[in-house]
Amino acid sequence: MKIPVSLGAESYPVIVEPGILARAGEYMALDRRVLVVTDDGVPGEYTAAVAGACRQARVCTLRAGERSKSMENYGALLREMLALGMGRGDCVVAVGGGMAGDLAGFAAATYMRGVDFYNVPTTLLAQVDSSVGGKTAIDLDGVKNAVGAFYQPKAVLIDTETLRSLPRRQIAAGLAESVKIAMTSDAGLLADIESSGDLMGDLPDVIARSLALKAQVVEQDPTEKGLRRVLNFGHTLGHAIESYGGGELLHGECVALGMVPMCAPALRQRLKGILHKCGLAAEIDLPAERLRPYLIHDKKAQADTITVVEVEQPGTFRMEARTPEELLRRWEEART
Ligand code: NAD
Ligand code: ZN
Repeated sequence: MKIPVSLGAESYPVIVEPGILARAGEYMALDRRVLVVTDDGVPGEYTAAVAGACRQARVCTLRAGERSKSMENYGALLREMLALGMGRGDCVVAVGGGMAGDLAGFAAATYMRGVDFYNVPTTLLAQVDSSVGGKTAIDLDGVKNAVGAFYQPKAVLIDTETLRSLPRRQIAAGLAESVKIAMTSDAGLLADIESSGDLMGDLPDVIARSLALKAQVVEQDPTEKGLRRVLNFGHTLGHAIESYGGGELLHGECVALGMVPMCAPALRQRLKGILHKCGLAAEIDLPAERLRPYLIHDKKAQADTITVVEVEQPGTFRMEARTPEELLRRWEEART
């Protein structure tokens, strides 16, 4: 299955296919110097398949975890590229989740003012969401994605077989992003997730449909001037929960919790059922009081409004300006 992302000169294909790693060389131009970026939680065979298809590959294996999306590793990758004598015609391939993809993409975006970048996402979150759209970044002094660039990959290769080794909790966290985009943009996908008798078996279909929806949004608003904000459904409260959790909860788990208050009361029970089916918690014992500092800190002043996405009917959305207090009231109301 091939999903085109049409962005003029920056267009690229996303290919979703079980076992595609074995044919990596057919989809990426690897007859050159290649820096392959991965982490030590990603099974080595996936990286080996990519490296084996390159004329000259150097594999950089970072420590797994968000802490690796750092200035230090960014600098290390650039130095590695320089030491290898990589030039403008060479390329970077990320093999891993959103951490490896965001970091390697940013290194590719900036080395020699930009070299080709390919993404081979191996977590469900990266396969349904982060690998497409061209957002690359690193964290700085504890601020997530503080430094980055919009930089589109040349191609995205999704081998759904790689999900076999992914822990169940990571699968659930990835599904949260599919539920997110289905909630705002595709009632049919939401219903199919809800009624699926074999969610694991249906993942290739869920991935392809989620990405096709994301591609449509990105095509209309590549640099997040307006419409692309729809992808932030559930993320305002989600990010506050994520900060409160201090790394205990996965991003997708927080987005799941953050979506519930942002849909109409009549839709909340249904959404909770779908989240449970995906293996996600839809409730957490966290009073609004505890969340307040993370929501207000986020936007500096209490009176400021935040543009949030709200869903009344599945497959549709509205953007609304809300104050943090309004959001906290909703959070409290959805808890009871
Ligand atoms: P991650 O990259 O940290 O991967 C999660 C864990 O899964 C890691 O321990 C990794 O080693 C392991 N892993 C990866 N593939 C595996 C496999 N096939 N089998 C077994 N284990 C495997 O986390 P993530 O959830 O993929 O990505 C989170 C990152 O993505 C965050 O930094 C976030 O900011 C970023 N993100 C970016 C965008 C974007 O648009 N660029 C969107 C959403 C999230
Ligand atoms: Zn997200």
